[in-house]
Amino acid sequence: MVLRMSTLFLRTLREDPVDAEVASHKLLVRAGYVRRAAPGIYSWLPLGYMVLRNVEAIVREEMNAIGAQEVHFPALLPREPYEATNRWEEYGDTLFRVVDRKGGDYMLGPTHEEMFTLLVKDLYSSYKDLPLSLYQIQTKYRDEARPRAGILRGREFVMKDSYSFDVSDEAFMRSYEAHRGAYIRIFDRLGLDYVVVAAMSGAMGGSASEEFLAIAESGEDTYVRSPGGYAANVEAVRTPAPAPLPYEDAPAAHVEDTPDTPTIETLVDDLNARFPRQDRPWTAADTLKNVLVILHHPDGTREPLAVGVPGDREVDEKRLGAQVDPAVLEPFTEADFAAHPSLAKGYIGPGVLGEKNTSGIRFLVDPRVVDGTRWVTGADRHGKHVVDLVCGRDFTPDGTIEAAEVRDGDPAPDGSGPLETARGIEMGHIFQLGRKYSEALGLQVLDENGKLVTVTMGSYGVGVSRAVAAIVENSHDDAGIVWPREVAPADVHLVATGKDDAVFDAAESLAGELDTAGVRVIYDDRRGVSPGVKFKDSELVGVPTIVVVGRGLADGVVEVKDRRSGERHEVAVADAAEHLR
Ligand code: ATP
Ligand code: MG
Ligand code: MG
Ligand code: MG
Repeated sequence: MVLRMSTLFLRTLREDPVDAEVASHKLLVRAGYVRRAAPGIYSWLPLGYMVLRNVEAIVREEMNAIGAQEVHFPALLPREPYEATNRWEEYGDTLFRVVDRKGGDYMLGPTHEEMFTLLVKDLYSSYKDLPLSLYQIQTKYRDEARPRAGILRGREFVMKDSYSFDVSDEAFMRSYEAHRGAYIRIFDRLGLDYVVVAAMSGAMGGSASEEFLAIAESGEDTYVRSPGGYAANVEAVRTPAPAPLPYEDAPAAHVEDTPDTPTIETLVDDLNARFPRQDRPWTAADTLKNVLVILHHPDGTREPLAVGVPGDREVDEKRLGAQVDPAVLEPFTEADFAAHPSLAKGYIGPGVLGEKNTSGIRFLVDPRVVDGTRWVTGADRHGKHVVDLVCGRDFTPDGTIEAAEVRDGDPAPDGSGPLETARGIEMGHIFQLGRKYSEALGLQVLDENGKLVTVTMGSYGVGVSRAVAAIVENSHDDAGIVWPREVAPADVHLVATGKDDAVFDAAESLAGELDTAGVRVIYDDRRGVSPGVKFKDSELVGVPTIVVVGRGLADGVVEVKDRRSGERHEVAVADAAEHLR
């Protein structure tokens, strides 16, 4: 089918949308691919929807090739499964919550681990059924705090999410590697310039994960790389934590008391003044789990970094060899996190600054007891930051807390050379979930010996709609978009210029020939539109090859232009179809 510009539902714009900051946002709106419906919510117009479906097709082919099976879940989901894994709460304000006419709680799915886990639990019961990988390409909903950059960060967006189910960790590694391979093929075919980096697991939980980042200055992720091939999201760079020391042996000399080292009272006052809790004031008894780490920037500003959250009481009790007073376990509420978006949730224990801490700060702390409450203050290894760790009595038997901070020039943790930082857009994310969801939801199968084992899972996401924008970020020039052929809405943009009927007749028959040969054509058949406007539109729209039928026809030639390189050459009109196929 030839797409005719005279009837195509398309209006190109000369002006950038006022709210657009990044190139892909400007160009996709100007070239008529998408249209904003509400903040972070976009409609796909004909050309845009073609590109989106082309991306989907690549993702689908590569997922099918590793034996993953496509399913389709609802986007409107019940509360209960997410309650069971605590994510109804954990997701906080990012979750779109919906109430039905009977007052029942529902949500618009931000990701589907729970639903897939329950479906497999419903139907499978034996190790013989595994391995299994299921996927869907589906609309997801997240009420992002800062929907920006058009479809790069939408509040409604299209994701391919898949989930693997295995009977053992070894078997899981095969599923993970298969997905990793599929992702490499997907992002290669999408024509993206990308890196694979070690990543933190964020709200997903689990232990290992890697991200596929499209290399782009406009990206929101910062990663580090070394000449020797080390690459990691800065969120994830960690040097191995030293083995926890007994409390008595913890180093005491890392930090000097300074005149403004706070007392527990001033700290509590400060917390109440700066980071008030919603339901009740902070007290010195906000202990054990309610740990707040405050980062002191060199310029004197402070920023809350991380807090401990409940859920690890057993671990603590084991570690302390004593019972924990439930009175000190009152958790932070979602409202607290909502009120202070920079707070990262995580467990803070010996040798580790909460898993989900995203600060990237490495520091050693010096625990001490003041008025029966232990609090610590510390400095990072470079002595550039000072960190207060407010915590309660008997928080940790050891004060060594370790995370990592990088700066350009630091050695890579694996010794592969100096690190440099760069920016990227997260395109894909593969997670080792372990048994987090299968345990919470009771997904077990019988193993060879008839013993019940909990299934090991992985989850894997590709930002399908985000990919459309990331490709444009990677591939555009001043004149417009430059699509890689496989995702382009057409192969050839055929432009007929002037008023001469012979030109339009020749262009018409060339369009027909190309179409018959399976070449996808946009034909600018508009009458009374200047050649300048047509050329501009063709460059903006960004199809790989532009063919101009115009004055040259008198000499029996058409002009063929490569959109990416700008190179042009003339081809005999009689040979054009053969040449372009
Ligand atoms: P980000 O760090 O950009 O917020 P995420 O880590 O929250 O992404 P995941 O939960 O890992 O995202 O989801 C899998 C993929 O879905 C991401 O790698 C990304 O490509 C895509 N994605 C996530 N959030 C959005 C969004 N708001 N708009 C478009 N795509 C998104
Ligand atoms: Mg996110
Ligand atoms: Mg992320
Ligand atoms: Mg992610």
